[in-house]
Amino acid sequence: MTDFGTIAGKVVVITGGARGIGLATATALQALGAKIAIGDIDETTVKESGAARGFDVYGTLDVTDHQSFEAFLDDVERRLGPVDVLINNAGIMPTGRVVDEPDQITRRILDINVYGVILGSKLAIARMLPRGRGHVINIASLAGETHIPGLATYNASKHAVLGFTDTLREEYRGTGLRFSSVLPTLTRTELGTGITAPKVLRPAEPEEIADAIAKLIVTPRSKVRVTTVAGVISQVVGFLPEA
Ligand code: NAD
Repeated sequence: MTDFGTIAGKVVVITGGARGIGLATATALQALGAKIAIGDIDETTVKESGAARGFDVYGTLDVTDHQSFEAFLDDVERRLGPVDVLINNAGIMPTGRVVDEPDQITRRILDINVYGVILGSKLAIARMLPRGRGHVINIASLAGETHIPGLATYNASKHAVLGFTDTLREEYRGTGLRFSSVLPTLTRTELGTGITAPKVLRPAEPEEIADAIAKLIVTPRSKVRVTTVAGVISQVVGFLPEA
């Protein structure tokens, strides 16, 4: 069986890592010995979080800007070495009926949630392919497989992330590159605030999503759905196809 190694020593880049699921994941992977780089559009918070947790690299990154993303990855590789894992986590979730959604909000959701993930994946592939190794993890959502009213554009963006990631997995099969998606349930973060979950569900904690991501890195998982049923967290896992 393929050896996925350990998390210790891996260079992990996390977009949108200043808070929420990204920050919890950075913290969990750092505790397991990874070298952590977080990039976020929120300059103040990313600096505060990075300094407070002692991450190896932290700074401003706009996932919708090619130059900004490339420069961030260049800086990480100069300081820490080749990126082993890129976690495309940055995302936004404005709510409301699409008919009332201003065009610039519609575009912004797609720009960050879809273009940002595609751009990050492209830049990572260009670096990882010559090395024959690397792992891109795209944070989708259970909204990528369901149809939550009031979130039409967000749902569409997450469906897109799943389709994109599944396609890359097929395209790069046998190259040493991995492409995975994570589908969190409603999670207790700023983004998740104000959304109510059905009665049987409780919101997940960001640390529970981080735990699923940590397991994904070291096992042959291709897709992880993190759900809570009657208060119990469960990880439903899809496995990598045989190479
Ligand atoms: P959050 O709002 O707490 O954090 C998102 C981070 O992304 C913020 O720090 C923000 O500044 C950053 N960001 C926004 N635009 C950016 C850009 N252009 N470039 C770089 N960084 C940018 O949200 P979260 O709940 O931690 O969400 C993280 C991911 O998990 C998102 O992709 C979200 O869609 C997904 N998700 C969240 C939930 C939930 O209920 N919280 C559920 C399923 C999936």
